[in-house]
Amino acid sequence: MRVCKFGGTSMADGESIRKVMEIVRRDASRKYVVVSAPGKRNKADIKITDALYACFSALDGGDFDEKFSAIYRRFCDICDDLGLNIDISAILDGVREDILNAHSRDFTASRGEYLSAVILAAALDVPFVDTAGLIAFSNDGELLLEDSLTRLRAALSKADRAVLPGFYGALPNGEIKTFSRGGSDISGAIVASAVGADVYENWTDVDGFLSADPRIVRSPKLIECLSYDELRELAYMGAEVLHPEAIFPVRRAGIPINIKNTFHPSAAGTVIVPNVRHMGGKNVIAGIAGRKGFSIINIQKEMMNSEIGFARRVLSVLEEEGVSFEHMPSGIDALSVIVRDEYLEGKLPSLIASLWRATKADGIDVQSGLSLIATVGHNMTSRQGTAAKIFKALAEKHINIRMIDQGSSELNIIVGVDSFDYEKAINAIYSEFSVD
Ligand code: ASP
Repeated sequence: MRVCKFGGTSMADGESIRKVMEIVRRDASRKYVVVSAPGKRNKADIKITDALYACFSALDGGDFDEKFSAIYRRFCDICDDLGLNIDISAILDGVREDILNAHSRDFTASRGEYLSAVILAAALDVPFVDTAGLIAFSNDGELLLEDSLTRLRAALSKADRAVLPGFYGALPNGEIKTFSRGGSDISGAIVASAVGADVYENWTDVDGFLSADPRIVRSPKLIECLSYDELRELAYMGAEVLHPEAIFPVRRAGIPINIKNTFHPSAAGTVIVPNVRHMGGKNVIAGIAGRKGFSIINIQKEMMNSEIGFARRVLSVLEEEGVSFEHMPSGIDALSVIVRDEYLEGKLPSLIASLWRATKADGIDVQSGLSLIATVGHNMTSRQGTAAKIFKALAEKHINIRMIDQGSSELNIIVGVDSFDYEKAINAIYSEFSVD
């Protein structure tokens, strides 16, 4: 049995929803369907979720009614196009009232997925099952996975088929709580895990996971098969397609994820499995991903390496200041911490002052403008020459490497380069490996 999640582009209008219906109907094992809110129909369009956030911002003294009426029309158009026999106006009037009463940002945003699921359920003539009481969050807003699985299992044992809204669940007091943006992927993964699906199909608008960002590398190869670990590394470093947190619920249950394209359903897509080596993967690297926007905090102190507790003092300061770090390369008399710029916003002066106090360093300086690039692949493990190829490719393009890190799992090699070299560096590494 399969659980399918359809993203915003798949739910954008009547035409795309008809494709979704065809896909679901084509295979009787597609029993549970999780949906996003309608996304963009074209580049200039607005996603329903963004329109709802704008509605919420307009609640107090803004043009709420004008903004809501655009959403109203969009859902009415979808229902007209699908020729649905539901009283969508009454449903939308109810949603409008609920938004005004709840006065909650998360509740407002959640109505996109709610309406999307109500519509698809009617179109497929399959029960709508609301995730509000099924996906559970703690009072601190943390997902309660076990609780959610138990509740979903109980609810879905009574429904042979169902359409469920993605993106949201509820707090213990019943208030709606959403995941972070793109969170319907997580909802789909939780549902797949709850019902013990054979496959979690994640339907989107691309043929699968690409081995590099197509905005940087021209026509990068599609990855046919990827392990969960490789996906985590690539997604964390910025490769988009799937929400990074969507992996945990299915990984625990050993359920493969298949990324598929609603607009090209015959393409095999990318399959994400527990261990790609068992699938006979032959490429040395699975993919390359990266991010701009990092800073290096360099802390120099003579004899630092023999000062017991030095690193602990640095880490304690980061913890106290609430700053998470990515890497911590160190030398004999220096230790550096690599941090995302966004985590330093508004915190840098007090962080540096605390580091001076805690370490009694000889010098501390901060350099911004760093990008990190991860070259990822299980097949690099115990194989010689991968790092040499990366460094050769960068050297030939006269790119200076500012940091190198390889985890002990040998799953990835991360290099830090100046942000102005970022695109050039990704292309250099990509072409070095694509000649394999
Ligand atoms: N609609 C939400 C968003 O745009 C959640 C999702 O689509 O996964 O972020």
